[in-house]
Amino acid sequence: MHSFISSGLLPFPVLKVDLHCHSTASDGLLSPEAVARRAADNGVDLFSLSDHDDLSGLPIAATVAGEYGMRFITGVEISVEWENAQVHILGYNFAADDVTLNAGLQSIRDGRISRARRMSDELEKKLGLSGCFDGAMRYAENPNLISRAHFARYLVEQGVCKEVRNVFESYLVPGKPGYVDHRWASLSESIGWIVGAGGIASVAHPGRYKFSRKLMRQFLDEFKQAGGRAIEVVSGSHSADNVAVFSRLSSEYGFLASCGSDFHGEGESYIDIGGTAPLPDGLTPIWEAF
Ligand code: AMP
Ligand code: MN
Ligand code: MN
Ligand code: MN
Repeated sequence: MHSFISSGLLPFPVLKVDLHCHSTASDGLLSPEAVARRAADNGVDLFSLSDHDDLSGLPIAATVAGEYGMRFITGVEISVEWENAQVHILGYNFAADDVTLNAGLQSIRDGRISRARRMSDELEKKLGLSGCFDGAMRYAENPNLISRAHFARYLVEQGVCKEVRNVFESYLVPGKPGYVDHRWASLSESIGWIVGAGGIASVAHPGRYKFSRKLMRQFLDEFKQAGGRAIEVVSGSHSADNVAVFSRLSSEYGFLASCGSDFHGEGESYIDIGGTAPLPDGLTPIWEAF
């Protein structure tokens, strides 16, 4: 499964790694089986399914990975509120049956249905769009994981926007009609659950957060202090500039470096599973700690 590229005289193996993908267990378009199969078909050697706030896809993804001889790591992407912003904390290589982690994730899922009802009410009140709750639910295979992504798909279906990725900026982000506040996990809670289950906590797609440099440092300081050890340097949603900035911060903070496509499905993701560039040289890959 390794590919070999030539560097000087000695060939060295380059692992194809994707540690960030979504399935229908959260807001992805493919089943957990299909995501794992697609990873294997794309030549991925080391794979993690990292659904939002939910572990239900892990057993079948692990089984499929095993059938293909692809190494599988347990994963999750936890929704966190920090300084009034939604951030995502990835957890890896934890015990998926950990009671505290599962109870914590359950507590986040519990709030999603009532939030979706409030989103639907706002869309009706402000835009005159009716039936958004039921419409979004039709797209959610796991109703407890009803997400803004499912609303986005419904709004595209209704002709409000042409593409899912355009819906967010106009309708579903803070200050827009379909956005409502929600209390997610705290940063320290999310890290505590992951570390308590024997896992490693990693900052997801830091380039997506609209933080000043000072606030980003405050965030990374708190993350590290709470027991966070890794950062996603290469992500499907990172520019080359983002990769450079977060490589430097990864080294400076002594974080392990991670990479993942953040694949949600064809037509919604620019990068396929296993399709990200390799980690820049000089960083310590997170898989050295697995
Ligand atoms: P939620 O967890 O319900 O707040 O939904 C967040 C999900 O919506 C993310 O995991 C992404 O899949 C998607 N999302 C959020 N912001 C954007 C954006 N600007 N463009 C495309 N997808 C987004
Ligand atoms: Mn998502
Ligand atoms: Mn995310
Ligand atoms: Mn993600």
